Amino acid sequence: MLERREAVSAEVLEALRRVPRHEFVPESVRDRAYADRPLPIGDGQTISAPHMVAKMTDILDIGRGDRVLEIGTGCGYHAAVTAAVVGADNVFSVEISESLAAASQERLDRCGYGGVSIRIGDGREGWDEHAPYDAAYLTCAASELPSSVLEQVAPGGRVVGPVGTGVQTLHRAIVHEDGPPEWSTHGQVRFVGMRE
Ligand code: SAH
Repeated sequence: MLERREAVSAEVLEALRRVPRHEFVPESVRDRAYADRPLPIGDGQTISAPHMVAKMTDILDIGRGDRVLEIGTGCGYHAAVTAAVVGADNVFSVEISESLAAASQERLDRCGYGGVSIRIGDGREGWDEHAPYDAAYLTCAASELPSSVLEQVAPGGRVVGPVGTGVQTLHRAIVHEDGPPEWSTHGQVRFVGMRE
């Protein structure tokens, strides 16, 4: 299914195969856990479709040992996929909803990704304490990628996230030591909006 939709690396496909998506979605939608579509996860939020998680992980260009910042933990599924690639201890995630953060931490622990660190707070500030990161991504959309997040990524690092308040486009920035980041766009997407 995913193989046909997006040309992503074997490593990313393996990470998606390894993470039990049914453990991360509410019981009411568990029968659809392996459908390639977004699903509600409570609190008005959604878990992205697997092909979107695969695509974002692919263009984030991460490998084992890379330190990754996630903005928007949600149900923890995307964080688990990232953890399967880089190692759970290297994943730092910020979630604004206390209840989603608590439930995710519990789920990640149960599924063997307990090393993922979650902070409750506004992801627009990033998570300075563990910077610099090799890569960062956002799972909620804003009018631009937050400058704090870009600043917390090391030179050569990547930031991926949906940009736009109506129509959204997936953006990637490659951060440079001197001068502005190198931007590219990766198609139209539909994510929940960033909350304040
Ligand atoms: N990656 C998630 C998808 C989460 S949906 C998953 O696999 O389930 C987007 C998430 O971003 C929601 O959980 C929402 O609460 C969170 N969010 C929205 N605005 C935020 C902000 N300003 N800071 C941190 N998290 C935010």
